[in-house]
Amino acid sequence: MKYKIISILCIILMVLLPMGVRMLGLPQNRYHQHLQAQEKPKCTTHGKETFCTHIPLINITTKETVPAPFLYNEDGSRTLNNKMVQASVQYFDNQEYNNHLTDTPTVSEHALIRTRGRSSRGFDKQGYLLKFMEADFLNNKKVSLSGMTADSDWVLHGPFLDKTLIRNYLCYNLAGEIMDYSPNVRFCEIFINGTYKGLYLLTEKIEYNDEGRIKFTETDPDLPATSYIVKLDEEGENPLYSLNTFSEYSGKNGPRKRGSNKLEIIYPNKTLTLEQKEYIEAEISRFEKALVSFDSADKNYGYPSFIDTASFVDYFIINEFTMNSDAARLSTFFYKDITGKLKITVWDFNSAFDNYLPVMSEPHYFMMTDKFWYEYMLRDQDFSNKIIYRYNALRKTYLSDEYLVEYIDETIAYLGDAIDRNYEVWGYSFSQEEDMLIPTERNPRNFEEAVADLKQSIIKRGEFLDANIETLKSLSHDSINKQFNHDVGGRS
Ligand SMILES: [Zn+2]
Repeated sequence: MKYKIISILCIILMVLLPMGVRMLGLPQNRYHQHLQAQEKPKCTTHGKETFCTHIPLINITTKETVPAPFLYNEDGSRTLNNKMVQASVQYFDNQEYNNHLTDTPTVSEHALIRTRGRSSRGFDKQGYLLKFMEADFLNNKKVSLSGMTADSDWVLHGPFLDKTLIRNYLCYNLAGEIMDYSPNVRFCEIFINGTYKGLYLLTEKIEYNDEGRIKFTETDPDLPATSYIVKLDEEGENPLYSLNTFSEYSGKNGPRKRGSNKLEIIYPNKTLTLEQKEYIEAEISRFEKALVSFDSADKNYGYPSFIDTASFVDYFIINEFTMNSDAARLSTFFYKDITGKLKITVWDFNSAFDNYLPVMSEPHYFMMTDKFWYEYMLRDQDFSNKIIYRYNALRKTYLSDEYLVEYIDETIAYLGDAIDRNYEVWGYSFSQEEDMLIPTERNPRNFEEAVADLKQSIIKRGEFLDANIETLKSLSHDSINKQFNHDVGGRS
């Protein structure tokens, strides 16, 4: 009888558990636009000729034409053109009703604007950087948009290569549920000088902000000891911010892992002193020396005493899962509060899930294991164990196929006709002449195909990692030499 009751209870639990995940939902700690935005009634007072959207609308008018993304040198080479031009920006975000260009703007401000991105600058649909300014255009002005922390600097990411339009939205929000900080984002539609530009993702720039974004304990700006944000990327224009740390000058874990990419200080910026730069260089060098040292894994003076391991574990998992080949190589941001340890945060998933122009990410390979700093951390079995344990836990929650597929479907349902409007302008990019991915078969021919490819990529990737995540242990396996020497020593 007792066993009968137990088996009935087991059956009930087996039926209820999967339903429970779906019904209760996972805790959502941040704002997900597609889940939290209010549903709005259809407009009945205007015709089809009036531009009307249920998502935030941005109307940008520039004084001069937005400068071309590149400057071409005499030898044919090109450099990024970061010249900014003055603009006025109207932001429409009515909570209850749809937005129109003739509404009273929620925000109306002055700003500087330029194109942004590296390779994506060359795409027809460009990304922009917005810097809100006081009317005199001398001082920055912090502006809050759609409830996000007020700041002067905002990124307008215009998905073009990503035909699903949602990779960054999905991945930033996913990372935001898992990690301490990931940029907050809102979908919007934009007009520049009266021309409709399509669907964009308004994104927080990774920066220090005492109200949100990356927060730090207050420090004395005159002292060398400081909190900081550094970025690993292609060499910047100003050598003042470029760091020469141990991995750079020793060549260890340096050139081979990161090419000619450099670590560069993002914060402190305008107030950075030479003493602060030396302090940051010395601190990162101490960490890098510990990382490659014989007793690297020691909790008191090895690498774990310098970094927030959980942050590096999560970064590894998210980027490995999404097959984000640029991770820990380009646009990689590290930050450290003066009282805490070094953390890492995510950026740019435009090419993730097999969306690089050539095939750079295969669903059946690890991508992160030989990356900058990670190759050495993975020599510590404790680190790979943490990744395996955390990965298996996340696969039951935020990284489960069920959660991700539902997230994608619900986001697309929320965007609704904004997707159609975007592709009225950019739909030509589905034609074969416009193919960007190599070989040709990798290019989706319509939006539905792009979404199906994304889902397929997620499912395949999960299958591979589920079957192989345990093999990470082999990277920290004792060497055969150690075993041999130990055996010899034991016998003598
Ligand atoms: Zn309307």
